[in-house]
This record gives sequence, C-alpha cells and structure tokens, in this order.
Amino acid sequence: MWSLNYSSISEIAKVLSSHELAMTKKFGQNFLISPEARDGIVRLIAPMPGMSVWEIGPGLGAITHLLVRSGADVTAFEIDHGFASILRDEAFRDDANFTLVEGDALKTIFSMHGCPDRVVGNLPYNVGSQIIARMIERSILPSVMVFTLQKEVGERMTSGPGDAEYSSFSVLTQLDYDNEIAFIIKPGSFYPVPKVESAVVVMRRKDRSLVEGEERSRFLLLVRALFSQRRKTIRNNLLSSPVFSSIGKDRIEKAFDSASLSGSERAETLSFDTLIKLSDGLLSTTAP
Ligand code: SAM
Repeated sequence: MWSLNYSSISEIAKVLSSHELAMTKKFGQNFLISPEARDGIVRLIAPMPGMSVWEIGPGLGAITHLLVRSGADVTAFEIDHGFASILRDEAFRDDANFTLVEGDALKTIFSMHGCPDRVVGNLPYNVGSQIIARMIERSILPSVMVFTLQKEVGERMTSGPGDAEYSSFSVLTQLDYDNEIAFIIKPGSFYPVPKVESAVVVMRRKDRSLVEGEERSRFLLLVRALFSQRRKTIRNNLLSSPVFSSIGKDRIEKAFDSASLSGSERAETLSFDTLIKLSDGLLSTTAP
C-alpha cells in the first residue's frame, strides 16, 4: 500500500534514493510540500466522481493523490520515466480512475482525443505557457484550468492594455478565458526551493470566446505580428511581418483608419475591441 507524506522533505528524499532517482533541474522539478497550497489548487479544480481531469507534470503525485481520491477520472502526463514508473507501478497501481501518459506533454496531450473537464499543472514556466498557448490555438478549451506558474507569467495572463506585463500571451489567454491569480506560493513551499515566487492562475472559460470560428487563426496571426517587437510601432511590426507585409502599405494604412488608429501606437496599448476592428479591417481591405 503506497503512502507518502508529501509535506515531508525527508520522506520524499527517501523515496527518491530508494529508487535511485534524482531531481532534474531541466524538467523544473520542485515538489509542492505545502498542504495548504495543494488543497487550495484542488479546491479550484473542484474534482468530482466521473469528471475528467488532466494533470500535467504530476511528479510523485502530490496533487494527483487528492484528485484520484475525489473519484475524478485522472489522466496524468509525466516526462520523467523514474517518476512515471513510481506513479504507474506503485502509487496508483490499484486505482482504476488513474491513467498515466508517459513522455513530453507538449507532444502527448496533443495526441489525445477530446477535451477534458479540467486541466491542472504545476510546470516549468516555458512548458506551462507553451501548453496553454497550444491548447488555445487548437481550440482545446476545458471549462476550468489551474496552472501554477512563475508569478511574472501569471501577471501576464491577468494584465490588460497599458499594463507593463501586457503581451501577446495576455491576449491569447484572455480570448476564451477570464484569468485570475488565485494565490501566490512562496518559494519555501517547494522542495527544492526555487528562486522565484509562483502564482496559481485559475482560467475560467468565458460564455463566448471574443473571436470565434474562421476569424480566430487570422486574429492570432495578427496579434503575434503586432507584438513581435515591443519597441516597434504597430505599423513597423506589420510592415516587417512575413505574413502581413505582402498586403501592402496602402491597405495596411486603410485598415488602421478603419480601427481609428494612426499606426504609430505600440501593441501593448490596444484593447481587444481595437484588435478585433483591425483584424476585420485587414480582411476587408484584402478581400477580393
Ligand atoms: N505536481 C508535482 C508537485 O506539485 O509536487 C510536481 C511538480 S514539478 C514543478 C513539475 C513536474 O512536471 C515534474 O514532475 C516534471 O518531471 C514534469 N515535467 C516537466 N516538463 C514536462 C513535460 N514537458 N511533460 C510532462 N511533464 C513534465
């Protein structure tokens, strides 16, 4: 019978050494040893029997065991083969509501079918933000996602036009979701202790996406181009974009007019409404 006190550094160290495993820095392995933080994350997920939950980066199962105990159908995606074998062969061997997918989640989750009810992850920030971005780009949109990320990334996901942290990632993650920093986790709540603070970000799906259907991919290309170089004006960013430069300067200027823009603005000042108007304007000026 598997039992591990996930709050005890010495017990975690014992499990690792008895399996001849070491923590790997490149996979951002920092276990959440604070029971309050684990409970806080699980409360945001609100798992229930039969609910499908994907957990990305379960580690040794600190959050997973709470999800499995709730009766939810848990699919866990873990890249570390040593951790994966502990999860599969020991920790959750007897749990019919637990499935392990071993490998890089950046690949494995996109070979899954359908969309889960919830996604939860405590991940290195580059993996976390790439997974969030790819899910949104592919319209895999669970109703609630809860990610523990570097605090700065959480601030990007919750900032609006004019804020210092506002970026293309802010736009992308707010297209379909209302994001909120639910709480901050101090470095000392992890083992080993990371250098930075973390934020638990809850993403709740909006009733309606701000840009839907066929317009979505064009809108996402535009946002990427507008934000490609923060110091440049939106005019210069569009004119140097491989996708938009071929439209021609005159048509780009017409689209600026239609969105009441001069072209000398920086992308981080533009609201969603203006971005949508500009995207529509670019389509109408280029349509045959
Ligand atoms: N969930 C555990 C916890 O809270 O204690 C572990 C969190 S630890 C910060 C990140 C976990 O994500 C590690 O188990 C690591 O091996 C895993 N991981 C990192 N990159 C991954 C990837 N690309 N795909 C799947 N798992 C990954």
